Amino acid sequence: MRGIGDKLVIATHNDGKLREIRELLAPFGIECVGAAEMDLPDVEETGVSFVDNAELKARSAADLTGLPALADDSGLCVDALGGMPGIFSARWAEEREGPRDFTRAMERVWEALEVCGPNAARDAHFACALSIAWPNDGQAETFEGRVDGALTWPPRGTRGFGYDPMFTAAGHEETFGEMDPEEKHAISHRAEAFRKLVAALS
Ligand code: IMP
Repeated sequence: MRGIGDKLVIATHNDGKLREIRELLAPFGIECVGAAEMDLPDVEETGVSFVDNAELKARSAADLTGLPALADDSGLCVDALGGMPGIFSARWAEEREGPRDFTRAMERVWEALEVCGPNAARDAHFACALSIAWPNDGQAETFEGRVDGALTWPPRGTRGFGYDPMFTAAGHEETFGEMDPEEKHAISHRAEAFRKLVAALS
């Protein structure tokens, strides 16, 4: 894969994601600059898949900054809900006013599952598409990851971000909201996509 130099724009305004991406890239000595530090606008996510949206965000950031840019598009997919909230995971947390509310978003997911009846399966997975784009020529490469598990109710834990407190990975007892970040990084959807990206870089 083409080189990315030693400075990478991380095309996200989500502090939780930025923190995780910084932690995952720390061993590679790459300086990560967040979208807010570069004054980048929020990009409208018009794609129909995680891959589409990751590429859209990475290309936009690379073109606006003249630097290679990395974007993550990810979300929680619930089998009984046909994969929802999926690419709309952030939107399910939006309120009429004010900041995104993930306590409310988790309630919305649980309420939707309850509508499916008492026997609805709790199976779910987190999915992640990571895209690196280079400035000017529109080139982009994308890597995907997922982690399978089940919804937990009520939510547990205050670590992580987003839907972490309501997700327990297969074979684990703790939710992502309770887990030590290092442990989440060993098994998460984002970590799997990163492993593929790093393998391509090296
Ligand atoms: P987007 O990729 O910016 O559209 O936002 C995806 C949304 O999915 C985030 O705002 C989170 O709520 C959720 N999400 C993605 N990855 C994770 C994760 O690792 N833990 C919890 N929630 C996540």
